[in-house]
Amino acid sequence: AQERYTSIRDLPATSECGQRVSLHMNAGLMADLPSLVGSGAEGVGLFRTELQFLIRSKVPRRGELASLYGRVMDAADGKRVAFRTLDIGSDKVLAYMKPTEEPNPALGWRAIRVGLDKKGVMRMQLQALIRGAAGRALTVMFPFVAQFDEFRDAREMLLRELDREEKLGHPLPERVEIGAMLETPSLAFAPRQFFELADFISIGGNDLKQFFFAADRENERVRRRYDTLNVSFLSFLEQIVARCVDTGTPVSFCGEDAGRPIEAVCFAAVGLRALSMRPASIGPVKHLIRQTNLAELRDVIEQGKLKGVQSVRPDVMEFLSRQS
Ligand code: PEP
Ligand code: MG
Repeated sequence: AQERYTSIRDLPATSECGQRVSLHMNAGLMADLPSLVGSGAEGVGLFRTELQFLIRSKVPRRGELASLYGRVMDAADGKRVAFRTLDIGSDKVLAYMKPTEEPNPALGWRAIRVGLDKKGVMRMQLQALIRGAAGRALTVMFPFVAQFDEFRDAREMLLRELDREEKLGHPLPERVEIGAMLETPSLAFAPRQFFELADFISIGGNDLKQFFFAADRENERVRRRYDTLNVSFLSFLEQIVARCVDTGTPVSFCGEDAGRPIEAVCFAAVGLRALSMRPASIGPVKHLIRQTNLAELRDVIEQGKLKGVQSVRPDVMEFLSRQS
């Protein structure tokens, strides 16, 4: 099987009906970067920067981070790396952060909420990203945005840091892309201006699904209770894609489900043309996309909805077994 994936490594993920899907990888440590070449990923769709903070006993220094981000971009060799700013709180607790007792940490003070309230660390991280880019293109995305003003404020923080860094004599990135992760249902209903302002949207499916079904992603008892191919969830994704298409905002999906071939082809069928996943999943996902007629799969999903099924999985499995 591994050989089968090696043979398609340098081929595009183009579906049987001619639809191009771009596949990217998720990363978080320097050690992940060699996979960028080995897996055939087009870039890093999600770089989880908190891992660097989690493995240390104290806050990393700006210079250290800048050099790390620079090395990540060196290793990516011109491929796009979407750096997600610090996503701490909830399941990701820093040893040197005063523990805050919260009854529901997943719904608590985390990610961009911390970044906007305690600006020091986020500013330092943004400066390190600008310095690490050292004139190259820079892509930054903010996690866990729940409403428009959070994105606008975070984006303005980055613009201010760009200004400040320029005044200090650091080279500006040749291009800056500023995106938001869509991981709370509320953001899907944000005003049109949000979709216009964001350079791109990355759906954080792990969190989005947990909040959509109100089922804790950490709780073994409920985490697999609701199928990703549940028609409500697929319809929701379709609506998000439609809003992004409407404003011309590029949209991708970067939760774990993107690395599961059956889920991945269904996401592509409902309109997601960019997926980011564990490097090892790229081969299997690409293999299935190349065999699948996404237009027909979309019909299968639509028919399932009309029939009133809860999950389209059985219909999708039947369709996929017929085409291979
Ligand atoms: C997600 O929520 O889908 C996501 C990609 O972020 P994380 O898993 O790090 O919360
Ligand atoms: Mg998340």
